[in-house]
Amino acid sequence: MKIMVCLKQVPHQDARLDVRSDGTWIQEDNIKFEINSYDTYALEEALRVKDSGEAEVVVVSIGPDRVSQALRTALGMGADRAIHVNDAEAENSDALGIAKILASIAKEENPDLIMTGLMSDDGNFSAVGAMLAELVGIPHTTAVMKVEHTDSGLKLERELEGGALEVVELPRPCLIAVQTGINQVRYASLKGIMAAKKKPIDVKTAGDLGLAGQIAPKMKIEKVYTPPKGDGAEMIEGSTDEVVAKLVSKIKELGLL
Ligand SMILES: Cc1cc2nc3c(=O)[nH]c(=O)nc-3n(C[C@H](O)[C@H](O)[C@H](O)COP(=O)(O)OP(=O)(O)OC[C@H]3O[C@@H](n4cnc5c(N)ncnc54)[C@H](O)[C@@H]3O)c2cc1C
Repeated sequence: MKIMVCLKQVPHQDARLDVRSDGTWIQEDNIKFEINSYDTYALEEALRVKDSGEAEVVVVSIGPDRVSQALRTALGMGADRAIHVNDAEAENSDALGIAKILASIAKEENPDLIMTGLMSDDGNFSAVGAMLAELVGIPHTTAVMKVEHTDSGLKLERELEGGALEVVELPRPCLIAVQTGINQVRYASLKGIMAAKKKPIDVKTAGDLGLAGQIAPKMKIEKVYTPPKGDGAEMIEGSTDEVVAKLVSKIKELGLL
């Protein structure tokens, strides 16, 4: 089985985020980056298939030079090979552009299973997975919390509102967008990190994929800003009973009760 895992590199969760001078994105210099949290669970799920039998795991990431670091980490965790789309046009592309790039790679690789994260920790569009499946012409499902491989395909549990789970079945090839918490993500072993140095990273451009000029964002990011701190927020102190009493009288005061 060939599994293609789409990895996005995002600002590290502890990174200090300052908005760039042009106000359209964050200042990326001098901050640490890491693999998108959802994608680490997707990668772990793919590596578990590899551990239990025949599977080749190919990791794909779109972004600038720094992305090779994320791919090396994934190779160190056990992925077999990596594809890096390093192209300025791709970097600023929107969810559809990102999906088009991943789709052209999927058409070259012809995987039995594509895994994405449910969403990215920074863009939060939660759109690339579904778009990619549509562009490749394969069925998909999202918010996956459990994967069972059967002869005919996959039996999956996906998360619904309120913690309910829905059981769905998909034939292969298909795409699943993975939810966090589906498994326990492994760390790259020292042996794995050493071996990763020899594993291939194939670097491509949008042009190589026949997509030059076709991935410009249709949605323009006008402004990125941190909302001003709201004033008038009042912290109610005391024991639970005291807090409840104060809250009720406050609500009554506001004529809401
Ligand atoms: C400097 C900069 C400028 C940008 N300008 C714009 C703009 O003007 N307009 C606009 O619409 N968007 C713009 N974007 C892109 C946007 O922020 C999102 O990255 C893009 O829309 C995809 O959405 P998402 O990352 O939230 O993915 P989601 O839809 O949340 O999907 C997440 C999943 O898709 C896969 N995935 C997503 N991105 C990648 C990747 N790069 N490589 C591999 N897999 C990936 C991963 O599996 C991930 O878990 C810009 C990004 C940057 C860095």
